[in-house]
Amino acid sequence: MRDIIIIGSGPAGFTAAIYAARAELKPLLIASSVEIGGELMNTTEVENFPGFPEGIMGPDLMAKLQAQAERFGTEVVYDDVVELELDGPVKRVKLGNGETHEAAALIYATGSAYRKLGLPEEEVLSGHGLSWCATCDGFFFRQKTIAVVGGGDSAMEEATFLTRFADKVYVIHRRDTLKASKIMQQRAFDNEKIEFIWNAEIAAIHGTTAVTGVTLRDTVTGDERGLDLDGLFVAIGNDPRTHLVHGKLELTPEGTIAVEGRTSKTSLPGVFAAGDVTDPHYRQAVTAAGSGTVAALDAEQYLAALPKAPEAEVAAAATSVAEAEAVEAVEAEFAVVN
Ligand SMILES: Cc1cc2nc3c(=O)[nH]c(=O)nc-3n(C[C@H](O)[C@H](O)[C@H](O)COP(=O)(O)OP(=O)(O)OC[C@H]3O[C@@H](n4cnc5c(N)ncnc54)[C@H](O)[C@@H]3O)c2cc1C
Repeated sequence: MRDIIIIGSGPAGFTAAIYAARAELKPLLIASSVEIGGELMNTTEVENFPGFPEGIMGPDLMAKLQAQAERFGTEVVYDDVVELELDGPVKRVKLGNGETHEAAALIYATGSAYRKLGLPEEEVLSGHGLSWCATCDGFFFRQKTIAVVGGGDSAMEEATFLTRFADKVYVIHRRDTLKASKIMQQRAFDNEKIEFIWNAEIAAIHGTTAVTGVTLRDTVTGDERGLDLDGLFVAIGNDPRTHLVHGKLELTPEGTIAVEGRTSKTSLPGVFAAGDVTDPHYRQAVTAAGSGTVAALDAEQYLAALPKAPEAEVAAAATSVAEAEAVEAVEAEFAVVN
């Protein structure tokens, strides 16, 4: 049995692994079979991760985090966790290939998924004018014309925030009323850079190497028209990846894993959670990395407080008896020689 298993290969998982490995806990990190490196693999330039004044490409940053975790002895497995057994002192992690791994502590860092429009162009244009994160990418759209898709609080917040950079921000919403709270709506209505396009959905995104516009479809009449754009932000929701722990760990009303205060402690002893899967608000690479640190330190403390397994105690006792006998033998030999 291992000391610790980490699930997730985003900034939270790899940072937890760096700390756990440097504490000599020999972590096993399950990276997934498809999305190794997490959400930053879907983006280009990351300009707000501290330590990279020139910026760094998302995949390069993740490769560096992985190399740093492996340098200290993290073992990475490229598979998906399909089942978890979390109650009891031994945590069991079943993988897609049928193997089961056991550990005394587990860090759950599976991130969250931004909801997509479901258009084929999304894969190609992500990070090339198509974004899910205004805080991350707003800076790239100075004096541009962009659009935000969505009608909830986060769409209003993103649209209002983006007016700091862009000259014009369209809000595209498929109904004629918003789901957002009244105060957020009013803030957006009062902003002269924001224009609402009601009863409209995106039928296609244009552009081969960067977003150049969209085809809008009227949700009432079905009519289609083009709209030229330099960028498109999708703000239609975010789903924390918690399906493996439903009914096992306590969740918050927002659907993230509930943790105790500023710690990473979940509702089960020995199970810690980190990164976007615990975070309904900030969802940044550096906050995820920070919470990975917290989880590794919490897990380390938990492991240190565990009573030693009887066989470990016997082994430790045997070692000290053997050591004592060896010392006695050397002393005796030394006495004879002298
Ligand atoms: C397009 C885009 C651009 C962004 N740009 C920036 C930016 O510029 N700056 C910034 O700070 N933030 C940015 N973000 C946000 C940032 O990517 C996230 O906040 C951060 O990646 C969260 O880290 P995490 O480790 O919690 O989760 P993630 O990065 O989502 O990683 C979770 C990992 O868990 C794995 N996983 C999930 N389920 C399983 C399973 N069952 N078995 C095994 N593995 C599993 C996933 O495959 C993934 O590897 C961006 C996000 C997007 C989508």
